[in-house]
This record gives sequence, C-alpha cells and structure tokens, in this order.
Amino acid sequence: MASHCCDETWFVLCARCRRQPAGGTVLSTDAPSAPARRACCSRCQRPAVACLCAFIAPVDNLVEVLVLQHPLEQQQAKGTARLLTLSLRHSQLVVGERFEPAALQALLHRPSPKGAAVLPLLLYPSDAVPAMPVPTPPAVAPSPAGLRLVVLDGTWRKSRKMLALNPALQALSRLSLNTPPPSRYAVRRAEQAQQRSTLEATVLALQQLEGDATRYAPLWSGFDAMVARLALHARQHGPPVG
Ligand SMILES: [Zn+2]
Repeated sequence: MASHCCDETWFVLCARCRRQPAGGTVLSTDAPSAPARRACCSRCQRPAVACLCAFIAPVDNLVEVLVLQHPLEQQQAKGTARLLTLSLRHSQLVVGERFEPAALQALLHRPSPKGAAVLPLLLYPSDAVPAMPVPTPPAVAPSPAGLRLVVLDGTWRKSRKMLALNPALQALSRLSLNTPPPSRYAVRRAEQAQQRSTLEATVLALQQLEGDATRYAPLWSGFDAMVARLALHARQHGPPVG
C-alpha cells in the first residue's frame, strides 16, 4: 500500500536506501502535469525530504523490543520510534490504541526464535497510574535474551489511555529508569520534567537491562544527528512537516 504522508508534487528516492517510494512512480524534477502527493521513503516511512535513513545505526540489542505506537504518533515529524526500531535489529513496531486481546497477548508473550519463554517488561513508571495495581517483578530476573521490553510510543496522556484500554498491558511487570541523565532531545517539549523521547527512554532501559552502554553508542550518534537536523530545520523553516 502506498505510504503517502502529505501533499507535494513529485516523488524522489530516499538518499540512503535509494528505494522507490512505496506505490509511487519516480518522476523527474520537471513539474508533472498533474499534482501528486509527496511520497514517503519506503524504508523509514518519512517524507523523502525528511528521510531518516542516514541516521540509522544498526545495533544487535540483546533484549528484544516491542514498540506499541499510538496512531497519532505515526506522522509526528519529531517522533523517534521509527528511527529506534530501524536501528534495533531485534525490534518490532505495531500501531494501535486498543489492541485485539488475543493479538496483543501473542505479541507480548510469543517465544524467542529459539522457542524459549520470554518475559515481557513494560517500560513505564511503576507509580504513574496509582489506580492500577502493579504486578510484582519475578524474584529471579532472566538473562537479557529472555526479556522483551514493551514500550508505549505516544504522549503521556495517550500512553496512559493505551494502558487503560489494554488489560494485558496492565498485567505486565514494569521497568522504571534508574536516575536517567537529562534529555538530549531539545526539539520536542516534554509534558513532565522526567520524560524522555521514546528512543532515549528505550535505549536507557536497554543499557540498564544489559549492563552495557557501549553497544548503543552508534545509535546515540544517529539520534543526536537527527535532533541536530530537526533543530536546524526549525531555525531555517519553522517546524518540520509531517
Ligand atoms: Zn528513508
């Protein structure tokens, strides 16, 4: 299915992956007779002018990552979940707000590729929603390969709604970040002081679970470069397009 994201006149190839936009015909830069819509890069799903592929730094994460993305985040220009999941080799991004219970259970609890059981952990402050009881974490934590980090990608309000709408998420043990450093993400205002972008929070959690920060250095570099481009674009042109 074509992944057009906003109005524009012609298609271009992604600068890095050189792929043709999904469902689109590559046109010359001569103005076409009939206007088309701007196409997204088929790899990162962003408008070609905002392609993220140059910032992707593939990393072999030990703890698998499942990102559940709120639909309103899909076209958010300042979102970081797409860069995150394109960079983590063992990750999956699924879009939705209220998930079909059986499908969500399968996503959360599916075994590892080797058939071993995997413990899902929800990256969410344990005291964030006092009305919901928080399950006790297991006494003996599995190795990183036996864990699946579940991340909700949305504003604070939307992530709380996703949690409220999906009992299977409420039933998960939670992981909170230990004294995270200040956010490096200067282009999107946090609703709460301790909030981090989805990419930052996830990578900090992976470092915490795996006990190895060096593995993620390339991913941080790619993230910093993306933030720098967003900041430059905002100074030159105003807020980035969708
Ligand atoms: Zn791209």
